[in-house]
Amino acid sequence: MGDPTVITEASREIIRKLREQIPELQPTSPLYIRFDDVYLNRFVRARQYKLNDVIIMVNNHIQWLREFNVADIMEFRFEELEQFRTVYPHGYHGIDKVGRPIYIERYAKMNADYLHKITTLDRIAKYWVRGYEILLYQRFPVCRPGITQSTVILDLAGVRLSTFDSRAREFLRLISKISSDNYPETLGAMFIVNVPSFFSIVYNVAKPFIPPETKRKIHVVTAKNVKAELLKHIDQDQLPAFLGGECVCDSNSTTDDRGCLSSDKGPWRDTMPDLHDKDEFVSCVDYGESRGSFAIEHFHTPVGTLTNLPSVTEEKSQRKGAQRFGLFSCCRSPPRKH
Ligand SMILES: [Zn+2]
Repeated sequence: MGDPTVITEASREIIRKLREQIPELQPTSPLYIRFDDVYLNRFVRARQYKLNDVIIMVNNHIQWLREFNVADIMEFRFEELEQFRTVYPHGYHGIDKVGRPIYIERYAKMNADYLHKITTLDRIAKYWVRGYEILLYQRFPVCRPGITQSTVILDLAGVRLSTFDSRAREFLRLISKISSDNYPETLGAMFIVNVPSFFSIVYNVAKPFIPPETKRKIHVVTAKNVKAELLKHIDQDQLPAFLGGECVCDSNSTTDDRGCLSSDKGPWRDTMPDLHDKDEFVSCVDYGESRGSFAIEHFHTPVGTLTNLPSVTEEKSQRKGAQRFGLFSCCRSPPRKH
């Protein structure tokens, strides 16, 4: 257990049955490439190998992909991101010792009133889904081969019980439902750090509802152990200074956490200069259904092989999405200057 790329015989058998029973998983479907065996294995594991439960989950996911219009999610622009970050500092920052992308959230500044002033839950949901699509098809593929999960650090330093009022809980429920229903098994490890004294009461109430496999991945860490515990799993240079590491991405930033949390440091940035220009890079990816899925094939490969684009069929390469993406311009030409 642990790695979705490891497909057991039992899982392979369930995946075979899924493909028999669900037309969207068959080669004639435009969704076929999205639903490769590793992708389906996530759902099999999330439903503990119970075929009927997996079928329900996958069917719901397919319906959601359509209703939510995930095929077009990369068009979405979350213009309020900087304001959103002021109440919800978060971001990807570095990789852990295994090679997994590290995602960090800090809750102390959560202010649900302000959050609802600057944006809506619908827009947050779109931003969240877009973030998951980038994780699956852009961050994982440029990490070490076989990396299909991330490491999450939830920093509760300075959090009070009142931080989690009903509207903040509504927001947290929304994002956790998107994650568990549609992006299962993307979590490799979770560190809940700087936990306040009331946390054990809350956690004990929540524990029975957390699946055992997920519970095994959660490490609850008190303030005095944060540095020692995180450095067991993460190298100093990959960990922000506010969590005990030595990284301060933007020394000019008045708050170090925002410097690191908005830097998007990681191999996705270092190996592909264009990636950091998200508007260019993300439009490169074409998702499923309406606009074909050739790009996904290529994003599953190491960065170097992205240049092997002649293998893309002429018909597909002419697609508007591919050209807009700049799949060609950014992968075959020097990075664009802005
Ligand atoms: Zn940093």
